[in-house]
Amino acid sequence: MLELKNIQTRYGKIQALKGISMHADPGEIICLIGANGAGKSTVLMTICGITPASRGDIFFKGKNVTHMAPEKIVSLGISQVPEGRRIFPYLTVMENLDMGTFLRKDTKQIKKDLDYVFHLFPILAQRRHQPGGTLSGGEQQMLAISRAIMSRPELLLLDEPSLGLAPMITRQIFDIIRKINQENRTTIVLAAQNANLALKLADRGYVMETGTITLTDTGKHLLANEAVKTAYLGI
Ligand code: ATP
Repeated sequence: MLELKNIQTRYGKIQALKGISMHADPGEIICLIGANGAGKSTVLMTICGITPASRGDIFFKGKNVTHMAPEKIVSLGISQVPEGRRIFPYLTVMENLDMGTFLRKDTKQIKKDLDYVFHLFPILAQRRHQPGGTLSGGEQQMLAISRAIMSRPELLLLDEPSLGLAPMITRQIFDIIRKINQENRTTIVLAAQNANLALKLADRGYVMETGTITLTDTGKHLLANEAVKTAYLGI
């Protein structure tokens, strides 16, 4: 589904990614864990074309998407939920969801997908006419995920979905991520500070340090890894 080959990404003089190679098979949940500044967000931004790679190649379903414009990448089936949610605060919940469909013309399926996100997050149906900015942090995260789903992605990129959320809401969001993956076979790449929950959810994980991948294994093995326990799980 997704393959990164030796990806390098720069912000001016800062080399944020120093040769990242990773992959995600269809229907897998992959997580990226690592300290602040390790480069997790940059990996996601590079995949979706917002911060293009300076070297290396990215393949999505066998197609080289490395130098494609972000809107083209969305149209191929990749959608990102950025860190900090970035919903449109003055637009209503419905209008925010409509934004996710801007490249689609299949009206009937759009209606079905809308029913689906309201089934996943009934609170959004109740609040559909409310401006996005009036929602709680957890509800805004639900809206950001729903907006991404409205573009019918085959690959969903989630950046820090639990940032600033209470533990109970975080668990709820992670349960829904699993549900989206299981019900639609959506491939998911998740960048997470909450390594414990992310590794429990993920089939496989990549540990990042200063722009490189230092370790990769199944979520289960990484949870049991002594170095991971000490550095990222606080055990
Ligand atoms: P966090 O968990 O804090 O979001 P991260 O692992 O996602 O961290 P990135 O945000 O990808 O890490 O940052 C990787 C490196 O790139 C860091 O050194 C960061 O300071 C730098 N960086 C990120 N965004 C920019 C930017 N817009 N301009 C310049 N440097 C940046």
